[in-house]
Amino acid sequence: MTDAFLKLTILGSGTSTGVPVLGCHCAVCSSAEPRNNRTRCSALLEWSGHKILIDTATDLRQQALREGIEQVDSVLYTHAHADHLHGIDDLRTFTLMTGKAIPVYAARDVLDRIQGLFSYVFSESDTPGYRPRLQVNEVYGPFELFGQMVIPLPLAHGSGESLGYRVGNLAYVVDCSAIPESSWALLQGLEVLVIDALRFREHDSHFSISAAIEVARALQVPKTLLTHLTHDVDYPRHSAELPEGVEFAYDGQTVMLPLPELQER
Ligand SMILES: [Zn+2]
Ligand SMILES: [Zn+2]
Ligand SMILES: [Zn+2]
Repeated sequence: MTDAFLKLTILGSGTSTGVPVLGCHCAVCSSAEPRNNRTRCSALLEWSGHKILIDTATDLRQQALREGIEQVDSVLYTHAHADHLHGIDDLRTFTLMTGKAIPVYAARDVLDRIQGLFSYVFSESDTPGYRPRLQVNEVYGPFELFGQMVIPLPLAHGSGESLGYRVGNLAYVVDCSAIPESSWALLQGLEVLVIDALRFREHDSHFSISAAIEVARALQVPKTLLTHLTHDVDYPRHSAELPEGVEFAYDGQTVMLPLPELQER
């Protein structure tokens, strides 16, 4: 079947500040290497002609312009931290184009937070032209989206929680400092893993690079992309030190993989 492919685009591979960091003049922040330029962490999944955002990062407009995204069919939210959420108003342009609400998926507490922080989005009294139109869906287990199963992966993120997502044999696991046993079972048999790997030093709320590599190794994933990177990572220099099958993600990077089976509706 010609449509049975999943395409991943790394929209943003950077930590919450983005790289370069404002006011920083370190070698990475001053670098001319495009893969050292990191917008806030987000990805685009595409299957069967549908475009699904993971998060609405602070840099969504810039990411959409760069990747030529002119359609958003759904959004999967990992959690409600600002770097993953605050591009939400940029969805307005997409809903203005179609006149249709975009289905968004998130855990209950994340939906509550979104509806509290961005109450104008959900206010019926505000003119639709001034707010994105969203159709809210609570995630409490696997669900079908455009003919594929989307499997949410509960993750520990410091003292909080986030949701990773698995579609076919690809899993996207940010922001994350530990993977609970129940989610570990859902990560077996992956072909591609995109995983939080903030920096070399440890951090309370994120995997370090070595901890993320350990996860990839334990899961025996053939291809792992490390994302949510700080300015500690100099792409060309540190790439040479990574084990086989593990690479740093970079903005605009794409990966294609076959979908095991496309359900007929
Ligand atoms: Zn983050
Ligand atoms: Zn810097
Ligand atoms: Zn976070």
